[in-house]
Amino acid sequence: MEVKLIAYTPNPEVVVASSATTSFKSKPASHTFEKYSKGEEEKIKKIIRDLIRHNHLSPIEHASFTFSLEGVSRSLTHELVRHRIASYTQQSQRYVKVNTESEDWFVIPKSYTGKKREEFIKRMRIIARWYEQDIKEGIKYEDARFLLPNATKTNIVVTMNARELLHFFNLRCCQRAQWEIREVATEMLRQVKRVAPTIFENAGPSCMKGFCPEGDLMPEECRKVGIKEIQKKFLELK
Ligand SMILES: Cc1cc2nc3c(=O)[nH]c(=O)nc-3n(C[C@H](O)[C@H](O)[C@H](O)COP(=O)(O)OP(=O)(O)OC[C@H]3O[C@@H](n4cnc5c(N)ncnc54)[C@H](O)[C@@H]3O)c2cc1C
Repeated sequence: MEVKLIAYTPNPEVVVASSATTSFKSKPASHTFEKYSKGEEEKIKKIIRDLIRHNHLSPIEHASFTFSLEGVSRSLTHELVRHRIASYTQQSQRYVKVNTESEDWFVIPKSYTGKKREEFIKRMRIIARWYEQDIKEGIKYEDARFLLPNATKTNIVVTMNARELLHFFNLRCCQRAQWEIREVATEMLRQVKRVAPTIFENAGPSCMKGFCPEGDLMPEECRKVGIKEIQKKFLELK
């Protein structure tokens, strides 16, 4: 699985901070943008921190981030696309035949180890044989794909603005999220922190706010390590 931040709004924090000033300055954002682009780092940080603290989040929406997620499972992308405030483009199983000749066309969950892992691979080989045979016998890719499992690898491009990303990280960096999307979300967070460190400085699972909204459903792992340790992990993510 690879997570690649392939593009993002240039100077995302300057864009966000200068957009925010539109609401309380007589001068337009273009003026502030030019001024902030030359420096004023501390002012930019303060504006962004105030926006986030006061939950005045619409200016944060002006910065967008585009990721290429490569070799992730269809199971992951099904969960990902539930996040509606985003744009997606996914590899088509109608136009692209899944390369089942390689042994690299599916994701194996880490819980499959030893003998169970071998069985998993054997089952994938059986599915691959059915898929290949049906295509040879004239079935279109778009129909033969009905045989393929959730484990099938895929590529997807996702663009989210910073506000949606903050929400996405709340839900998907959480220990309650499924492992693959949690790994992807954590890696996405690591990468956006590098290019927009103030916007994402406190980003992470919902418990970054100081309590676990899951209540009784708080995972055992989190009870063991405690919220402070989880917060530390995400604050120090590099
Ligand atoms: C641990 C976990 C388990 C899950 N289990 C299941 C499950 O068993 N079954 C299942 O179906 N889903 C499940 N989901 C998916 C979940 O229900 C959401 O669909 C998904 O997390 C997207 O969240 P969202 O709707 O908040 O976010 P987004 O779609 O990213 O939207 C962001 C925010 O915009 C607002 N918004 C967006 N669209 C609307 C709208 N139409 N009306 C009003 N406000 C809107 C909301 O405030 C929303 O929080 C699970 C998610 C998690 C994290």
